[in-house]
Amino acid sequence: MIATSDLSVFIGRLRIVRGVTFKAQPGEVTAIIGPNGSGKTTLLKALSGDAAYTGSAGIDGIEIASMKPWQAAGLRAVLPQSTSLSFPFTVREIVRLGLTGGSAGPGRSGDRVAEALARVDLEGFAGRFYQELSGGEQQRVQLARVLCQVWDPVVDGRPCWLFLDEPVSSLDIRHQLAVMDVARTYAESGGGVIAVLHDLNLTAMYADEVLVMRKGEMAAFGAPRSVLDDRLLEDVFECRLRVGALPAGGVPFVLPQSAG
Ligand code: ADP
Ligand code: MG
Repeated sequence: MIATSDLSVFIGRLRIVRGVTFKAQPGEVTAIIGPNGSGKTTLLKALSGDAAYTGSAGIDGIEIASMKPWQAAGLRAVLPQSTSLSFPFTVREIVRLGLTGGSAGPGRSGDRVAEALARVDLEGFAGRFYQELSGGEQQRVQLARVLCQVWDPVVDGRPCWLFLDEPVSSLDIRHQLAVMDVARTYAESGGGVIAVLHDLNLTAMYADEVLVMRKGEMAAFGAPRSVLDDRLLEDVFECRLRVGALPAGGVPFVLPQSAG
């Protein structure tokens, strides 16, 4: 389990996130939503060990700030919001970077790269140059790298975690669903997923729990049905929204309303 208590996160001397207390369980997809600049990426950076914080943040009771990089690398893999590269790496080279955590035995690494690329619908892309791919294809290469790093959702009885910052932001609808299915499968296999999402409908479809950020603070935390509420979303996103629910299963959906 990932648990934070009164977590505040700093960039330099600036406190960007304040007072966040929540829990994310393995076996579940936890979504973080909120407007641009509300602190989603900064919160994920603290959980990744990449930003200074006060309060506490732990994975299975181990304080994140006290983890050694190799220890953290075996427990969680991070898909950043954007990744730019200035060297002509091939797709295979990028995905193999995920293997340096050492979870694949010798001889398995080639298979694993191919398997990871297949999971993100990029079979046959291993020899291509990363820089020559579309933004959406690059995003899926990065996801394949991240999957390689924590390939087994549970290792020696301990769940591993995927931290995904806007994993579907550049993807067409089919690949959005495919990537969210990868996340859900990972969780169903015993791992944990924390994903920053902008699409409220994907959030409703895939998230077990939703953390709503607003101006650096937690505005709400709970199941989609309780959090995806007209008033709360209008307040947080500062625009007119209506949440509906389909009769089948009562999955909520959100439609923007034009002004007036
Ligand atoms: P989100 O991911 O929700 O869009 P971020 O966590 O990236 O938001 O940023 C939250 C706030 O922190 C924003 O107001 C942003 O301008 C500020 N911020 C982010 N990174 C830095 C930085 N390196 N220096 C100063 N301010 C930053
Ligand atoms: Mg962000």
